[in-house]
Parts: sequence; structure tokens; C-alpha cells
Amino acid sequence: MDTSSLQSRCIGRVICRGDEAYAAIREADWNQLRPDRFPDLIVQAASDHDVVEAIRFAREANLKVAVRGGGHAWCGTPLRKGGMMIDLSRLNQVRIDPEARTASIQPFISNREMMAMLEPYGLAFPVGHCPQVKASGYLLSGGIAWNAGQWGHACASVTGIEMVTADGQLVTADAKRNRELFWAARGAGAGMFAVATRFHLKLYPRPRAIHASTYYYSLDKLGEVAQWFSLAMETMPRNVEMTLFLVSAPEDMKDQCRTNRGKVCMVTATVFADSEHEARQTLGKLEQCPHASLRKTVAERTDFESLFTLSGSMWPEFHRNKVETLWSNSSPAEMLCAVRDHFKCAPNPKTLVLFALYPGWAGGVAREDMALSKAARVYGGPWTIWEDAGDDAANIEWHRQCCELLKLFACGRYLGESDILDDRSRAEEAFSPEHWRRLHELKARYDPESLFHGFFGGL
Ligand SMILES: Cc1cc2nc3c(=O)[nH]c(=O)nc-3n(C[C@H](O)[C@H](O)[C@H](O)COP(=O)(O)OP(=O)(O)OC[C@H]3O[C@@H](n4cnc5c(N)ncnc54)[C@H](O)[C@@H]3O)c2cc1C
Repeated sequence: MDTSSLQSRCIGRVICRGDEAYAAIREADWNQLRPDRFPDLIVQAASDHDVVEAIRFAREANLKVAVRGGGHAWCGTPLRKGGMMIDLSRLNQVRIDPEARTASIQPFISNREMMAMLEPYGLAFPVGHCPQVKASGYLLSGGIAWNAGQWGHACASVTGIEMVTADGQLVTADAKRNRELFWAARGAGAGMFAVATRFHLKLYPRPRAIHASTYYYSLDKLGEVAQWFSLAMETMPRNVEMTLFLVSAPEDMKDQCRTNRGKVCMVTATVFADSEHEARQTLGKLEQCPHASLRKTVAERTDFESLFTLSGSMWPEFHRNKVETLWSNSSPAEMLCAVRDHFKCAPNPKTLVLFALYPGWAGGVAREDMALSKAARVYGGPWTIWEDAGDDAANIEWHRQCCELLKLFACGRYLGESDILDDRSRAEEAFSPEHWRRLHELKARYDPESLFHGFFGGL
């Protein structure tokens, strides 16, 4: 394929399969469990204009287009067979307007970078939990943020998106202009049919007192403990984020957890408050739990950077991962107990199961102005994590069985953390029937020749 005309019109690099740089760029995604799919051509865009040129070239050369934002998709959706992959890793500019409490960011900005840049202004954005994850696909999928009970899904704080459409036009989509594209881009994730090159964001005052409690309990008490905390969460204010985990016990607690194969239940509660008094009072209520913990830390002061560091240690880089999450209005205690024995046999100690509680979301996402349409009181599932390719079969089978045990509890999926390639029905389960239908109608209207792969093309 002669790509010289495209290269001459782009600032960024045009890389063909067979070029020396190809392998490193193709493999620049988070999950080391990488699909065996190879685009013919990668365009590493360095500007909006490069994206426009790439799309126009793809149309002329009859190439299908896939997009990679930060490359953090758990199930490898940016990698498709053949065609062109537009890589956005050079688009990393940020503009902040502290007076207006707004920002505009390009796709390749991480959660950590974002919060560090907003800190001097006392501002915040509903970023995700791990430090390295990029805004791009996170915002397009919906975005389950820190302090989501109060701030909502991240995409609800996106006020406009600049994007390149399938006919190669750079447009702005917001509540007034190109409303249908704006509707789709807030939730469509891997099914999006345009390339988002800039997001306009609404910012929030940064919580002045972030405090966190952590409790560890024996798995023998799992049902009672999970039931107590999930009921307690029903009475908590929206600025509390509570998560119930099944994890490997910390080294110095292993002996106490011997009879449960070194596994333990960990409960974390984080409050995003305005004063230390408010934070301590809120988290203090959890001290009434009648079940004796193996260890606890209560209402310790923390900040976003420490929260990122903690999450970063639980979801380490350069690992192989299988992830499947669900939305559920079932009891978290029931779900955790359903996988307790299976969890004890997890092949790798880094694997974890979690359920985060969002009582305010029991009714779903009650908004008509964005494609995102599924949520529930409980969110979570297994994150199966391992290091060696030789252990793939054991971990993938363990993960499959865990998903099977949890399947009956699901009332929906979250596109950003669901393996829509393992089971294609999961993409549809991420939307209400009306929103799923509308998304397809819009794809047919805005991308009539199916330039973009969409959810399942090129697999
Ligand atoms: C360690 C880790 C922690 C995570 N924590 C959270 C969390 O706390 N909350 C949460 O909600 N999610 C979380 N996720 C999931 C994450 O939000 C999604 O994987 C998201 O897709 C990542 O964005 P990305 O740009 O890296 O996606 P990519 O892998 O680059 O892209 C995924 C898909 O989105 C589409 N896409 C991406 N960018 C664009 C664009 N600019 N224009 C058009 N289409 C695009 C493409 O079709 C692509 O197939 C986590 C993921 C990881 C690996």
C-alpha cells in the first residue's frame, strides 16, 4: 500500500505492517493478554488535522478504521484485523479555565495527570480509579469515577466533544450542535462511529477532606459482614464510596486466614467531604459494625494521589488480565458468597473480586440525553490477573467459571469493563433496548458505509 501521500500530509507517523516501529506501537496497550489481530496500517496522529487526513485516506483506500485512545480496554477492542488503526497517544494537550471551572482535554490524558493539573486550582473531575488510565475510552464508555455517587458518571460532566466523523469532517458536538453525535459519544465506547479528539469538561470544587477506612474480615463471616455493610451504605450520603473485596490477605495476616487459603474480605469506605469533622462523623458510623474485624484503619486522611497509588498496586501494569463486570440490584452478600469457594482456588494471588455499592443508582441512569443507560445499586465482578503466558489456560478457565457463577445476578453491563468479545450479547446488555436501537440507527446514518468497525467488525 502506498502511504507516502498520507505521510506527507500528516505531522504524526504512518506505520505499515512490516515497518520496524510497527510491533512496539501495536503492542502499546495495557493488557498483556493481547489478541492476535494486526491492522495493516497505524496512523499515530499528532493533531486533529492528522485524524482528518487519516479518515480521508482510509475512505479512498477502502480501509476499515479502528481507534485506540489510551489502549486500556481490557478486551483489546482497538486491535482489529487489517485496515487502519488511528492511535491517539500523541494527543495530550490540556487547557484549564479555573474561573469558568471548565477544562478541555485531548484523549491521552491520564487520571493522575488530570487530577495533578487541577490541584493548584482546588478543582477536580470525576476521574477513574487507576492512575494510568486515559480519558479517551473512559469518557466515551461512561466513566465510573471516584466519588461517582456524588459526581455521577464522568460522561455526564462532558459538555462538548470535538470529533472527526466518518466523512472526514472535524465537528463539535454538544447540547446544541450535532446533538445526536453528542448523545452517542456519551456511552457508545467501542461502538463509537467518529474519532473524538478533544473533550470539554465541567469541573468541580475539590473535596477538602478525603478520608478512608479499611476493614479486613475472615471469609467465614463473609455473608453477615457484607450484608451489614451494604445495609449501612443505604444510609450513607452520596459522597461515600464503599467497596467490598475478596482479596489475598496481606502477608502478615496470612496465618489468620490459613483456613481460607490465605484469602480475606476487605471493605473500603472513602468519603469525599468538605471538612475533617464531616469526614470523621460519616465514616464513624461504620464503627458500629457488630462483627469483629481482623484489622482496621479508621477515617485516615488521604488524597487523590494516594488513592491512585493504592489502586495502582491492586491493578498492576504489565500483567495479563481477564475482566468481566456487571450491574446488579441483587444483594452483594449473596453474590460474594456465590463465588467465595471458587475465589479460594484462584490460580493467581493478584486476582480479586469486588462489588462497589451505589445505592442512588438502583433505578439506572435516568437520562435521555446520552447513550449511557445502564447502572444499578451494585457494580463489580472478577478481575483475573496473572503474569505468565504459560498460566493462560488455568486463569482463563477460572475466570470463565467465576463469570458463570455471577451471570444470574446481572441486570446490565458496563461497556468500559465488560468483555464484549467473549460474549457479544454483553454489548447490548450495556444499554436499554431503546438506546441500543437508537445507537444502531445513528451508526447507520452517520457511518453508512461502515468505515468504523463498531463493536464487532474486524474480529
Ligand atoms: C487498570 C485499569 C483500571 C480501570 N479503572 C476504571 C475505572 O475506575 N472506571 C472506569 O469507568 N473504567 C475503568 N477502566 C476501564 C477503562 O475506562 C476502559 O478500558 C477505557 O476504554 C479506557 O480508555 P482508553 O482510551 O485507554 O481505551 P482504548 O483501549 O484506547 O479504547 C477502547 C475503545 O474505545 C474506543 N475509543 C477510544 N478512544 C476513542 C476516541 N478518542 N474516539 C473514538 N473511539 C475511541 C475505541 O473503539 C476502542 O476500541 C480501567 C481500565 C484499566 C486497564
